Amino acid sequence: MLAKASTQMSSFSCSSSSRVRGQPCMWPNMRKQWFGKNLLYGFGTLIVSPIKILRGVNQFLGLPPFFCNITCMSSSLQIELVPCLQDNYAYLLHDIDTGTVGVVDPSEAAPVINVLERRNQNLTYILNTHHHYDHTGGNLELKARYGAKVIGSAKDKDRIPGIDISLHDRETWMFAGHEVLVMETPGHTKGHVSYYFPGCGAVFTGDALFSLSCGKLFEGDPDQMLSSLQQIMSLPDATDVYCGHEYTLSNSKFALSIEPNNQALQEYAAHVAQLRSKMLPTIPTTIKREKQCNPFLRTSSPEIRRKLNIPLSASDAQALGIIRRAKDNF
Ligand SMILES: [Zn+2]
Repeated sequence: MLAKASTQMSSFSCSSSSRVRGQPCMWPNMRKQWFGKNLLYGFGTLIVSPIKILRGVNQFLGLPPFFCNITCMSSSLQIELVPCLQDNYAYLLHDIDTGTVGVVDPSEAAPVINVLERRNQNLTYILNTHHHYDHTGGNLELKARYGAKVIGSAKDKDRIPGIDISLHDRETWMFAGHEVLVMETPGHTKGHVSYYFPGCGAVFTGDALFSLSCGKLFEGDPDQMLSSLQQIMSLPDATDVYCGHEYTLSNSKFALSIEPNNQALQEYAAHVAQLRSKMLPTIPTTIKREKQCNPFLRTSSPEIRRKLNIPLSASDAQALGIIRRAKDNF
């Protein structure tokens, strides 16, 4: 499980042919390439320790350290992490076959425009998981510039800037031939949705599920959040989880404080610390990893219940509420 990210670190290839299909596969069902922003086209193929080389040059140039470019072997969908604001991620979706491009949760327009210009691409769709400004802040500028359609929850149609297509729970929407299942995942906000791409094995969870945590309960209650998390957890274990924030390192400290003997968590936390010390993303995570390590998915863990004095008689939703309050005060 942990080897997934470490494998990608140690054996990635860096190539300017990111959109060429059929390159060697480093994961069972995925291939990944890591790119230094704006340096990609000049470097061609780097084989020996390119992460350190690119990161060093990028830091020298004052650029964000990395963009992660992920292509599913089983489909033509390419996913690129776009760091925004302090700790948000937007995700560029690129269908290689048709050239269609979408973006999930553009907090701001400029970093997305930079990537689109670098790749000489247009933007057709903007997908929002919820209405918060740090997920929709780039909507109107991107829509005005590219004529992109904004997609979001029907429940949030009055709060998502520029929304064109409002979707309901369990509705299927098509992105350039890729099935997208809309899952209502409220708790953080009332109209929160997650987007599941079954063909690619990827889910975009916004501020519902983070790696090692879940979103704060601004508009919902523990019952709603538990139900949302259970829905996400019902996806296949190998599903890649793309969440809205890079919070994993601080989340790991809280998780370890309430479940210090969880060995999978110990290993993941150490790996996360290593990644973040190199300014590398910890996203995507996987459903399997979160089940093993995320305290909000482990409400019945005896160790967590003991640490937080949660009675055995307390329901999972009650336990989630107590864990959430403990995290808010951590
Ligand atoms: Zn939010």
